[in-house]
Amino acid sequence: MITVMIAGPRGNMGREAVKLVQREEGMKLTGVIDYKFGGKTMQDTGHMESLDIPVFETLDDAAKNKPDVLIDLTNPETGKKHLRRALELGIRPVVGTTGFTDEDIEALSVLAQEKKLGAVIAPNFAIGAILLMKLSVMAAKYMPEVEIIEQHHDRKLDAPSGTAMKTAQMISDVRPEASQGHPEEEEAWKGARGADYEGMKIHSVRLPGRVAHQEVIFGGEGQTLTIRHDSLNRASFMPGVKMAVEHAVAAAGLVYGLENLID
Ligand code: NAP
Repeated sequence: MITVMIAGPRGNMGREAVKLVQREEGMKLTGVIDYKFGGKTMQDTGHMESLDIPVFETLDDAAKNKPDVLIDLTNPETGKKHLRRALELGIRPVVGTTGFTDEDIEALSVLAQEKKLGAVIAPNFAIGAILLMKLSVMAAKYMPEVEIIEQHHDRKLDAPSGTAMKTAQMISDVRPEASQGHPEEEEAWKGARGADYEGMKIHSVRLPGRVAHQEVIFGGEGQTLTIRHDSLNRASFMPGVKMAVEHAVAAAGLVYGLENLID
């Protein structure tokens, strides 16, 4: 039985993660971390009213229960702090927030190795989105002219999405040199052709009603290939969360990106 603590249980992702851990036979929810409701139970907070699960104000308080795994679905600042502190406290972190620099990842990898603990940072838990990236790499070797369109809800602050940037980087590692669009093209309205990453154009749509969607369009002589992934709700991320938790308890060291757990 894997004992799990969840940080951010009132959030959109956190609520789904609570449901995931509740229904998985091999996992047990032993507490949640919520800086606004420390000392109460989830029942008292009015969220998930049937759950008699303790709420801890901080990770240090929660560590007294000695969970195997911390799932963090809060925000970039807290996610980063929780990851380091969890390792220091002997807890295996699974973190779904973004904002980690290469230096952070390097330092946290060393710490995870020293502590002999598994840890996963997954900027995207949707297994379909990971497959989209991998399939795009396969296609780019043969169809190097490519544009990416990503669409998200209008509360998203950053653009392009982390997944679009990662896809472009993975494609750029394998694609033969390609010049795209007309060499003399001009934008009558600034931004019309989107962001540019090594000649690839990336377009970001932000609209209410959207969750997380990405199309990678490859163009060739007389043909196009479109690979598309849609996350229709937050439940789409939970099989990836489960995969990350199971990996974190089975292996030592830090994994950055679920693409490293999928063949
Ligand atoms: P959300 O609905 O805003 O939920 C975040 C929750 O964390 C809020 O309830 C917030 O409480 C709480 N929180 C903030 N600081 C906390 C702390 N110190 N301790 C405990 N709880 C704290 O956001 P969301 O849509 O669930 O997303 C959560 C995070 O996951 C974001 O960083 C998002 O970018 C990321 N995300 C990742 C994936 C993925 O696949 N990896 C997918 C979607 C989203 P208050 O609102 O009261 O401050």
